[in-house]
Amino acid sequence: MMTRVFITILIALFPLTAYGELSIRIFARTKPVTVVFTPDNGVYLLSDGQHGDVRILPGETVAVTRHAGRVIYMTLSGISGVADSLTFTPAGSSSVFRLRAPARNEAVKTLDGLLKIKSFPGSLQIINVTSVESYLPGVVRAEAGKYGPPDYFKAQAVVARTYVYRNAGRHELDGYNLCDDTHCQVYLGLISELPIIEACRATAGKVLIDRDSMLIVPAFHGNCGGVTASSADVWLAGYPYLVSVNDPWCGYSASSVWKKSLPMNDWNSFLRTKGIKPGEEAVLYSPPGSKPVRVMNRTVQGKSITSEEIRLRFDLRSAYFTLTPAGDSLTVSGRGYGHGVGLCQDGAKAMAEKRVTYDKIITFYYPGISITDIKNARRPVRP
Ligand SMILES: [Zn+2]
Ligand SMILES: [Zn+2]
Repeated sequence: MMTRVFITILIALFPLTAYGELSIRIFARTKPVTVVFTPDNGVYLLSDGQHGDVRILPGETVAVTRHAGRVIYMTLSGISGVADSLTFTPAGSSSVFRLRAPARNEAVKTLDGLLKIKSFPGSLQIINVTSVESYLPGVVRAEAGKYGPPDYFKAQAVVARTYVYRNAGRHELDGYNLCDDTHCQVYLGLISELPIIEACRATAGKVLIDRDSMLIVPAFHGNCGGVTASSADVWLAGYPYLVSVNDPWCGYSASSVWKKSLPMNDWNSFLRTKGIKPGEEAVLYSPPGSKPVRVMNRTVQGKSITSEEIRLRFDLRSAYFTLTPAGDSLTVSGRGYGHGVGLCQDGAKAMAEKRVTYDKIITFYYPGISITDIKNARRPVRP
């Protein structure tokens, strides 16, 4: 009863269609101090908030740099100025531009919609205002890869769209919806792969909801190793649709069953950093061929040690493994790739190849959920 009351308080009552527009912080990971803007297609109007708009033609460049808490801009034709913030507005509906960060290791991004740039402590804050549907293909391409059958991409598109609407308030205090890095969802900008664009278009507006019409937590991972994990085990937060499911589909992949050998010296120094004396850790080991435990949490000499800590330290594909000493090395026998919760990408791809449709793929991995239009969904105030 208490939980129910609590959940009701957290439900937003305003319509979600307000989020058809989406603002994304671009280059959020490398935070450049200089960027170069170039219209690719169509004319852009540059406004510095003080003078009249400057028309920027296709192929023309505008360099923008942070200086003393403000932004300096200079066009190729020699127009320059200093401002608190800049706005690049498309003059036509098909306007597209490219954005580069010359001093940063970032790929050029092709974007549409509006661009706002202002000075931020230590960097520029670059915000792209676009639409959810125009943003999605560049996320699906980053999260699902380049190759796959149409229903695999459709499943990923609905998952990514659900994530966007559920988490649109994530950077509310920063003044935008989502960042373009792994913290939210990696956004590559506009892409050219037609199968992905088509999969997003074919599922436009569709999202995943639970029995209370609430947008779900659309967790996914690379490969589950034959059985998906329940979120209650991995994250200590249970959802009725993030439960363990036996997956007969993903065994074909090299990520399904794997082995790695760790030098015993490295392992011993790891144990010491955990305050454990090497030689006393037998409780962590299993005989060869044992079934792995999804989330191992053991106590050795009064110190707790988890499979997730071991995964992070040794860069393992998952935290689903057994450890077996083998002379001067330690054999890690593992399954799967990623956290194992929700949709298994390798399994989803195999199902789609066997002509299972995206709605069946989704309900296989998230039991009990429904696919609906965003206008029928509710969003928690705090994701
Ligand atoms: Zn973020
Ligand atoms: Zn799987």
